[in-house]
Amino acid sequence: MPFEPTVAVCIDGCAYEYLEAAAQAGVAPFIARTLREGSAFEANCVMPSFTNPNNLSIVCGAPPSVHGICGNYFWDPDAQHGAGAAVMMNDPAYLRADTLLAAFANAGTQVAVVTAKDKLRQLLGWRLHGICFSAEKADQADLRKNGIGDVMDFVGLPMPDVYSAALSEFVLAAGVRLAQERRAELMYLSTTDYVQHKCAPGSAGANAFYAMMDSYLAALDALGWVIGMTADHGMNAKHDPVTGNPNIVYLQDVFDAWIGPGRARVILPITDPYVAHHGALGSFATVYLGNDVDAGAVLARLRALDGIDLALDNATAAACWKLPPDRIGDLVIVSRRDVVLGTRAGDHDLSGLTVPLRSHGGLSEQRVPLLINRRIEGVEPGCRLRNFDLFDLLLNRVAP
Ligand SMILES: [Zn+2]
Repeated sequence: MPFEPTVAVCIDGCAYEYLEAAAQAGVAPFIARTLREGSAFEANCVMPSFTNPNNLSIVCGAPPSVHGICGNYFWDPDAQHGAGAAVMMNDPAYLRADTLLAAFANAGTQVAVVTAKDKLRQLLGWRLHGICFSAEKADQADLRKNGIGDVMDFVGLPMPDVYSAALSEFVLAAGVRLAQERRAELMYLSTTDYVQHKCAPGSAGANAFYAMMDSYLAALDALGWVIGMTADHGMNAKHDPVTGNPNIVYLQDVFDAWIGPGRARVILPITDPYVAHHGALGSFATVYLGNDVDAGAVLARLRALDGIDLALDNATAAACWKLPPDRIGDLVIVSRRDVVLGTRAGDHDLSGLTVPLRSHGGLSEQRVPLLINRRIEGVEPGCRLRNFDLFDLLLNRVAP
């Protein structure tokens, strides 16, 4: 094997503050040591600061303009026989690049991928000859499809609920078991942000989660693994600090009022089948306009709207954030740090929001940690990396 056993961990929704708070509280000794003595960088995630675009950027080592995945959900003009439809972006048919995980497996490396939610499994495991399963469907894993059978017995934890911290714990426990049994030399572990959507950095819930994570990461460290950690995006409070009510700009309602119904279509790329913890509310939206709508005039009005951070046309957004122009709308809108974007007020089920809303998607969630339990060469101190530099650092720049 040309490198030490290496694992990249994508801690979903891990703003830097979570790690610092858990380290300071003394509940995460491995993370604290890595912050202090390992290599700890700040990195930017790709825009939109959502799960799928960033996980795919990390495993491809490239931005969405290259791999094509720019949301969890998008408007596909070719769907439904050319009529167009808003669809999930979970299907590997939408991938425009191969992953470096698949390339390593093809070159003879034992590769394993474990994800929390099944929505990512197909994309991350695209053309991968190795182990790839999700905690969500761990009880259905089989040797032919997932490269491993009897996952429940192998991991030794009960089947986790999809909305739980246990879903992420299952991922990490599986990683440790795969390392112990020497079933992998290169791993990618991807957790879920259920806890981060509910709990602020330093809160009891967050610290308990990072304490749990820390114990498994320490076990991997003790097994001699090179460990890299980053996040797909950060997380911020999106509610009024006094009332606890979410701060929402319902964009479809705004457009209907400004230019009339049916002349703009708002797409929220955060939308996925698991919306209970965020109500499909994030800080990024894309909008398709009817042919006769004056985009410049609409952009000017949007920029003056309270709660909006940025409103860009397609070409500018694609160039700035390296997005595939054919998969975003005519406009791209990013809301302020404490504000989320919705479609119509009546279209969002907020009954699952049992605590004040925390979410992501905007520029305000772009800063993420990038930590490695080894010394890294060739990166200037203070250099702002990208989260998708992680594999390059792990595989090419770890000091001997
Ligand atoms: Zn995420």
